[in-house]
Amino acid sequence: MRILQVSAEIFPLLKTGGLADIAGALPTALQAQGCDVRVLLPGFPAILAGLKEPVRVGVFGTPWGEAVEVRYGALPAISQNDQTVYAYVLVAPGLYDRPGNPYEDANKHPYADNHRRFAALGWGAAHLAHGLDPHWRAELVHSHDWHAALAPACLAVWNAGMGPRVPSVYTIHNLAYQGVFWPQHFGDLGLPGHVFSVQGMEYFGQISFMKAGLSYASHITTVSPTYAREIQTPEQGCGLDGLLRGRAQSLSGILNAVDDHVWNPATDSQLEHHFDVRNMTGKARNKAALQAEVGLTVDAEAPLFTVVSRLTEQKGMPLVLSGLAEILSRGGQLLVLGNGDTQLEQAFALQAKAHPKKVAFRMGYDEAFAHRIFAGSDVTLVPSRFEPCGLTQMYGLKYGSLPLVRRVGGLADTVTDTDLETLDDQSATGFVFDDFHADDYGRAIRRAFALYRRRSDWNRVRQTGMRIAFDWASAAQHYTNLYKSLI
Ligand code: ADP
Repeated sequence: MRILQVSAEIFPLLKTGGLADIAGALPTALQAQGCDVRVLLPGFPAILAGLKEPVRVGVFGTPWGEAVEVRYGALPAISQNDQTVYAYVLVAPGLYDRPGNPYEDANKHPYADNHRRFAALGWGAAHLAHGLDPHWRAELVHSHDWHAALAPACLAVWNAGMGPRVPSVYTIHNLAYQGVFWPQHFGDLGLPGHVFSVQGMEYFGQISFMKAGLSYASHITTVSPTYAREIQTPEQGCGLDGLLRGRAQSLSGILNAVDDHVWNPATDSQLEHHFDVRNMTGKARNKAALQAEVGLTVDAEAPLFTVVSRLTEQKGMPLVLSGLAEILSRGGQLLVLGNGDTQLEQAFALQAKAHPKKVAFRMGYDEAFAHRIFAGSDVTLVPSRFEPCGLTQMYGLKYGSLPLVRRVGGLADTVTDTDLETLDDQSATGFVFDDFHADDYGRAIRRAFALYRRRSDWNRVRQTGMRIAFDWASAAQHYTNLYKSLI
């Protein structure tokens, strides 16, 4: 099966969140299942710079008259992974040649022409399904998140008259980010008028890329079974729950996995001290090194709570701030790496200043540092308001840092709370609380301290978590079966 994966980011070239990790890992996992996979990406500077041996494949015109060149080349290999992944990249400097964040300017404002930048991505996919590259034609297009969500609509238009039918899969990585634009931009999209309707991509008088994906994809997936159910409710449906309920027969949740070539404490190239479930001395060394690196008291006995996250309300950062006293009064430490909402950034900076040896805050995005944090951390905090899948709790599990999470979305699917029963049957892997409220969160923090004092139980829970594979083979098998059923 010739499968085209379409996304705006891909690890290791360009990453702003979990989408890039998945876009980077899924192609090789699908190749291992026998799929012939290529990816399509916008030509952001970091992506063009990383494309190896690029050759020109062809050119297509956009509805607003700009020419987009399609280049083909190899992506850089992910460490210890000898499989090559090939990519098509859209070369359109007027659209993509901007430094920094791919979606917004230096003032954190979305680019005014984002609808054009990502409409080009959708049309690029449709062209690659219909002969732009004479040597390879996609039999199915799998697009990810709103940036790539126009692909199913472009294919549907093409399917309606201009060529053979090419099915599409659309994966929601986060329903809250929808790509909604003013209706006057509809003309730029190059889609027929009927697409701007309630059955198409019209969303409360505006145009929604997310809704285009949901309306026109042959099948919709999202990144955990629980989130697939949650988004069909008014509470978590972001105004699209009715549409999603209507498409329930074509909607499924496939849990994300973890790329073992990138996230494995026994081989991780970012770590000075390697460790595994049988030999945890490296973990203790990483913790001491991490404490020293960020200026916390080097103390093996102080449980180290960590956050690696976008700093937003969605990620539960207000809870982390409100529960800080609970951690400090019991002799724990907190380390936060992230950026996002200015107010949250300032609040964490203030706390670090007020408690220099107990709280550390690093503002920014730092991939290598994130690895060192999981390796040195005791507890990974992910108290999200909602969470489609969440990757950091899985990284925490693999690196022997017990996740403390809210029972929502993929967090509910990947972490088992510690209680007498789960301790006894050895299924416990972390701490799970229910209400998005400081009280419930605080109780989970206290449970973490209680377990930390029972060191042999703590070690057993940690081992259970570290043994979970979260390997891509089973997720890739689900996707492959889905593709087969649609082609
Ligand atoms: P989301 O995609 O909603 O931000 P996920 O948990 O799915 O959340 O994925 C987040 C990814 O981004 C993880 O790989 C995490 O390690 C990484 N990440 C988040 N913030 C930072 C940061 N400040 N520095 C380095 N990596 C980060």
